[in-house]
Amino acid sequence: MEFKRKIAALLLALLCLFVSSACGPVSETAPDSGNMEVHFIDVGQADSALLLCGGESLLIDGGNSGDSSLLYSYLRDHGVKRLDYIIATHPHEDHVGGITGALSYVSSVGEAFSPVAGDENYYFNRMVRRLEEMGVGLTVPEVGDSFEVGGARVTFLGPLELYDDMNQNSLVCRVDYGEISFLFTGDAERPAEELMLDGGAELGATVLKVGHHGSSRSTTYRFLREVAPAYAVISCEKNNSYGHPDDKLLSRLRDADVTVCRTDRNGHIVFTTDGAALSVAVQKGSVGTGSTILQEAPAEGEPMYVGNVSSKKYHRTTCSYLPSEKNSVYFYSLEEALGSGFDPCGMCKPDAAEVTE
Ligand SMILES: [Zn+2]
Ligand SMILES: [Zn+2]
Repeated sequence: MEFKRKIAALLLALLCLFVSSACGPVSETAPDSGNMEVHFIDVGQADSALLLCGGESLLIDGGNSGDSSLLYSYLRDHGVKRLDYIIATHPHEDHVGGITGALSYVSSVGEAFSPVAGDENYYFNRMVRRLEEMGVGLTVPEVGDSFEVGGARVTFLGPLELYDDMNQNSLVCRVDYGEISFLFTGDAERPAEELMLDGGAELGATVLKVGHHGSSRSTTYRFLREVAPAYAVISCEKNNSYGHPDDKLLSRLRDADVTVCRTDRNGHIVFTTDGAALSVAVQKGSVGTGSTILQEAPAEGEPMYVGNVSSKKYHRTTCSYLPSEKNSVYFYSLEEALGSGFDPCGMCKPDAAEVTE
């Protein structure tokens, strides 16, 4: 067991070096000037991403209605007092429900996009009413339309046709910042993907927000080949009733040698780029790479550190000064322990490099 833990810690440390120099707790400050940050907010079985660049902001979806308070506090904690742009990818609760929470915090909104001017969805209409109270109407963009957030260019690539199935109507956009790009596909599935492929859309992106929470009906081989991402982000809830992400989808991502980040395992996921280099920081666990999904060991297995709730110290699980069960909190990575504000125990020195005992 001890050996397994050491291997897990070593793999995590190596991965941190490999993935990023900033693999650690997610930052709570505005990005440095010249940087773009893309936050995939952990909203469970839903979608929400916040893009910050050059003092401007874009919110793409806002999770379920129950995520309203999370959206409110996330914007507050990151000092986002104005949303320059909002993209509501499509009128389903898990994408627009929590946007009202964001609207309660910010004092103003620049422009709001949606694939349709109206819909019956209750949460969509609640958002539209709230936007109207703030003096903002909905804009239905055309494919090819683009705008800038700080120095990042956002271009709409879809939908190319409207279907009865609202998921296929998701607004799809690519964000370009220097040499780094992100592709957001909402809940688009194969039919929408095929239209974009056949239409010759420029789909290539460094980071792909995987369509429809990791459904097998999204992110087909052909689509994945065209996007050719280095990273894929899956937004879904642990043990969700849909079985997301689907095993077939995960195997397609493995075949394509894509590093996978998942909100169900990693919590909030934050990418930072200066337009050339890209780093990722996760709230918990670690991110999978290629054929090895590394986070299974530390994130889902045994905890690596034990925190003492009263003393705010964290220990190796082998330390002789472990707190009582009811005074314990478990961490699956060093980042998680440090990110929770705990200090290393002076006896077992959990922050020191692993030594052979
Ligand atoms: Zn959805
Ligand atoms: Zn949907």
